[in-house]
Amino acid sequence: MKAAQVLTAVEMQQPELERHFLQVIAKHELSHAYLFSGTSGVGKKNLALLLTMRLFCSNVQATGVPCGKCNECLRIAVGEHPDVLMVEPTGSSLKVDQIREVRREFSKSAVEGQQKVFIISEAETMTTEAANSLLKSLEEPPTHVTVFLLTNNYHRLLPTIISRTQVVELAVQDQAELKTKLKQGPLPHSTIQLLLNLTSDARQIERLTEDDWIVKSKQGLERWFRWLLQGDWQAFLTVQTNLVPLMRDRNDQDVTIQMICFLFQEVLQVKYQGTGSEQLAFGDDYKMMQQAANSLSDQQLIAIIENVLTISRFQQNNVSFQNILEAITLKSLREFQ
Ligand SMILES: [Zn+2]
Repeated sequence: MKAAQVLTAVEMQQPELERHFLQVIAKHELSHAYLFSGTSGVGKKNLALLLTMRLFCSNVQATGVPCGKCNECLRIAVGEHPDVLMVEPTGSSLKVDQIREVRREFSKSAVEGQQKVFIISEAETMTTEAANSLLKSLEEPPTHVTVFLLTNNYHRLLPTIISRTQVVELAVQDQAELKTKLKQGPLPHSTIQLLLNLTSDARQIERLTEDDWIVKSKQGLERWFRWLLQGDWQAFLTVQTNLVPLMRDRNDQDVTIQMICFLFQEVLQVKYQGTGSEQLAFGDDYKMMQQAANSLSDQQLIAIIENVLTISRFQQNNVSFQNILEAITLKSLREFQ
C-alpha cells in the first residue's frame, strides 16, 4: 500500500522530475550523489524513494516506472530493505556517529543485490564534523552506491557538500504558478531565478519586488562583487553608496546576506558543475562568474562563505549592518588579493 502511495504522490508532486530521472536511470547515467532541495512537503523523500524503487524493482513497467508491488518495492517504501539505508536527524541534528555508520555501510558490499542507496533527510542539520565525515565518502564514492541528500534549507549546507553533489531544486506546485506569474511581469529571468531561490512565500516576494528592491540590490551586489574580484578597495565604497542605503529593515539585511552566500555558491557551481548562465541567478555577467571560479580555489570560496555566515551573526549584537558588510568585504578581499 505504502509503495503505491509513493508512486501516486510523485506523479502529483513532481511529474517532470520523475520523467527526467526515469530516463536518466534507463540510460544508466545516474550520478552517485544528489541533493534534493525544496521546502517541506514538496516531495523530496517520495522522489528519492521512487527512484530507489526503480533501481531495485524486479518488475519495472514498460513506462519505466517501478511496479510498486514486488517485494523490493514494498520493502523500500516501508524502510525495510537491507540495501537501502535511510538516515534522519536524532534530535535537532545529524550527528557524526550517524554519518560514520553511513560510511561503514558505504564500504560494505550490498546484502542482496549489486547496489546500495542512502537517503539522508534534513541534510542541513549535519554538524560540521558529520558533514566533513560524509565529504570523505562523497569524494570517492564506491561505484555501487547512490546517495540522496534531502534539504529544505540549502543555504545552511556546507558548500563543499553542495559541490560534491548534483543539486536538484524541487518546486512546489504553486511556486510553479508563482514562476509563471513572475515571468509575465517585467523582471529579468536572472532576477526571477534569484527570487525563487530566496523564498517561495508570495508575500515575501511582493515585499522584495516592491520599488524594484531586488533588482537594485542584485545590481549593487554585482557591482560590489566586480570590485572584489579585482581586489579593489572600491568594494567598500559600493557598500556605503549602493548597498546600505537600500536596506529598509532587518529582513532586507538578512536577504542581502543570503544573496551574498548564494552568489559564492553559484561560483562554486560554475567551478565544479560548469553550470551555464541560464541556470544562474548571477549569470548575467557570466565572464565575471567564470573569472571568479578560475581565480579562487574551493578552500578560498568556502572560507569566504564561512566568513560571511560568521560575521553576519554579529547582527544579533546590534553591530550596524554597514560594519557587517564592511567586515565581510575586508575578509573577502583578502582571499581575492
Ligand atoms: Zn517493483
